[in-house]
Amino acid sequence: MTIPNTMEGARQADAADPLASYREQFLFPQNDAEKVLYFTGNSLGLQARRARTILMEELDDWARWGVDGHLEAERPWLAYHENFSAALARIVGAKESEVVAMNGLTTNLHLMMVSFYRPQGKRTKILCEGKAFPSDQYALHSQLRFHGLDPAEHLIEIMPDPETELIEEDRIIEAIDAHRDELALVMIGGVNYYTGQWFDMERITDAGKRAGAMVGWDLAHAAGNVPLELHKWNVDFAAWCGYKYLNSGPGGVSGVFVHEKHHGKADIPRFEGWWGHNKEDRFQMPDRFVPISTAEAWQLSNAPVMAMAPLLASLELYEEVGMTALREKSLKLTAYLQAVIEDASRESGQNIRIITPKDAKRRGCQISISVPGKGKAAFKKLSEAGVIADWREPDVIRLAPVPLYNSFEDVYRFGQLLKEHLRD
Ligand SMILES: *Cc1c(COP(=O)(O)O)cnc(C)c1O
Repeated sequence: MTIPNTMEGARQADAADPLASYREQFLFPQNDAEKVLYFTGNSLGLQARRARTILMEELDDWARWGVDGHLEAERPWLAYHENFSAALARIVGAKESEVVAMNGLTTNLHLMMVSFYRPQGKRTKILCEGKAFPSDQYALHSQLRFHGLDPAEHLIEIMPDPETELIEEDRIIEAIDAHRDELALVMIGGVNYYTGQWFDMERITDAGKRAGAMVGWDLAHAAGNVPLELHKWNVDFAAWCGYKYLNSGPGGVSGVFVHEKHHGKADIPRFEGWWGHNKEDRFQMPDRFVPISTAEAWQLSNAPVMAMAPLLASLELYEEVGMTALREKSLKLTAYLQAVIEDASRESGQNIRIITPKDAKRRGCQISISVPGKGKAAFKKLSEAGVIADWREPDVIRLAPVPLYNSFEDVYRFGQLLKEHLRD
């Protein structure tokens, strides 16, 4: 059933939404609380109310225990990262042993490539999506140069169609097949940060594996947004950031997935640190590294407890809701946003182009729109009216209605403002 583009229709959809009450669990920006329409959970997720409580509990335990908090704190700091594994595993479709929360995303991409990008003989090339997020491009280029390889020759970028700005999976598969003897690694952003396109990860992973390459995914815009089955899809590794859909707070901790087939192997090159060493004798300080036989082997340092605490609050909510219910609402909310944008386009007489695929199977909750010529002015007026969205030159607005805390009314109100500010 389609939801009418009216305040009443939106409010009825909210009343029927089983996840509606979760909105109350989050803090919206206070600058003008009445007006704020927050659509940038894909950039920085909101603060869960419980984040402050959990952070205060850790600060209190630090005050109470000092160093003894490593064992005596309510959540002992020694094993702090273990608090995240069950929820993260469910979010990305993995076994608990295959995930660990640590570091920042770009750091983790490098650590993963140290292990899984191992150019040898003719197999030297990396295949990625064209116009990847800059940090990913820098990471890929510098990994190639680190191995003495020229990115111009060894990085295969599958460029978007200039008209649609999307990358058809067929082009990616064709390129994998064409380079099958030279590919060492396929690494792509699961959901593109700019277009919102969600790639057919299973199909691409399968093609990469059949070509004999390692396959890794950057899930910055996918983790907590779309349903994932990393273990089942036979993905080698993945990494994501915690501060977008997962609401870990600015610069908050990232997560990685390493498929269990790579666990416990002595011959995998890895940058090693004491937190990756076998837990039984870590504190006897042995001088030879023996990896933990899980993804935790890739940890270097002990966990930054204060920086990780807020993520616990958000993951508790993810555990309650589950990705299935979240996706169900996400599909409705995103379809509603699309409909509301299409109405605004028609009624204002302005041509709004929706860049993001209209097929729900090819996107998460983000919709990117382009308003040639009018975009910047409209974006400025929308911002003044309280819409927090994301602007990309030359004329793109990215919007993410996040099912955990955005409402149908948010989307309806946005549509009205868009129509109004495109007209004048
Ligand atoms: C947000 C984002 C990043 C950010 O990297 P950090 O190391 O967390 O600063 C990297 N890659 C992609 C694709 C992103 O969307």
